[in-house]
Amino acid sequence: MYITTSIEKISQICSDWRAQGLTIGLVPTMGYLHRGHLSLVEAAAKENDKVVMSIFVNPTQFGPNEDFSRYPRDMGADLKEAYQAGVDVAFCPNVEEMYPAGYQNYVEPGPLTTYLCGKSRPGHFRGVCTVVLKFFNIVTPNNAYFGQKDYQQFVVLKQMIKDFNLPITMHCMPIIRESDNLALSSRNVYLTAEQRQAAPMLFAALSEAKQMYAAGENNAAIIEQRISEIISGFPGARIDYIAIADKDTLEPLTDIENGAVIALAVWFGNTRLIDNILI
Ligand code: AMP
Repeated sequence: MYITTSIEKISQICSDWRAQGLTIGLVPTMGYLHRGHLSLVEAAAKENDKVVMSIFVNPTQFGPNEDFSRYPRDMGADLKEAYQAGVDVAFCPNVEEMYPAGYQNYVEPGPLTTYLCGKSRPGHFRGVCTVVLKFFNIVTPNNAYFGQKDYQQFVVLKQMIKDFNLPITMHCMPIIRESDNLALSSRNVYLTAEQRQAAPMLFAALSEAKQMYAAGENNAAIIEQRISEIISGFPGARIDYIAIADKDTLEPLTDIENGAVIALAVWFGNTRLIDNILI
């Protein structure tokens, strides 16, 4: 596996590959890798000749009071895991490489970012779209791999590549979970033992919602209320949002007719966890 921090170097490698007619799969990450990230590499390795993973904790997608500085990092372990998973090039730029002095331009995402996480994290998707557009331009992948874990991110980025006419196929991969169904996340490491024990109830609540829908309940408010009751049963948990939304437009639904995404964000102390389920 080749490791580089340089945009010039990775661009050169990717353009050589393209000249040889090789296909490139890109897996963008913020590092502190877990099996969720590695499942994206596995998919990319199956469907492309070469796999590039970016490892970059992107400051522009964190709000001023968010966890940028304390976001978990372990580059040594990440590189080992990336290598074992079949990454061909790990691109690990520093902040100055991505945003040099004098940097000025940002992607301004549209209405999709007014819902769900966009509401509680103003500016987050502007940072995500900007950094991912830069990665797309640097790597010029044929395919890009993202997790359903960040469902809104996937929908927002898909709209971006459509609006900007980028010739990239987007892949949304299933959420990888712990054995007790907590969605894997780099942020799980922040949880206290007590919070960690309570956290699987997010998926339990989503699963109960799915069952209610399967049993014929299609009133979104009633399902949301039930999710809220389950989560509120845990004293340490504070709901940021629970939403039942259209899978494509992310607009809130009153009646569920043709499926939906049920998404939530819940605070455990200073740690905000997200999860979702498609119904
Ligand atoms: P992050 O490093 O948190 O920015 O995540 C990088 C990519 O991995 C994103 O596309 C995430 O959606 C994806 N991802 C994170 N957690 C999981 C998971 N538990 N299962 C599958 N994909 C995930």
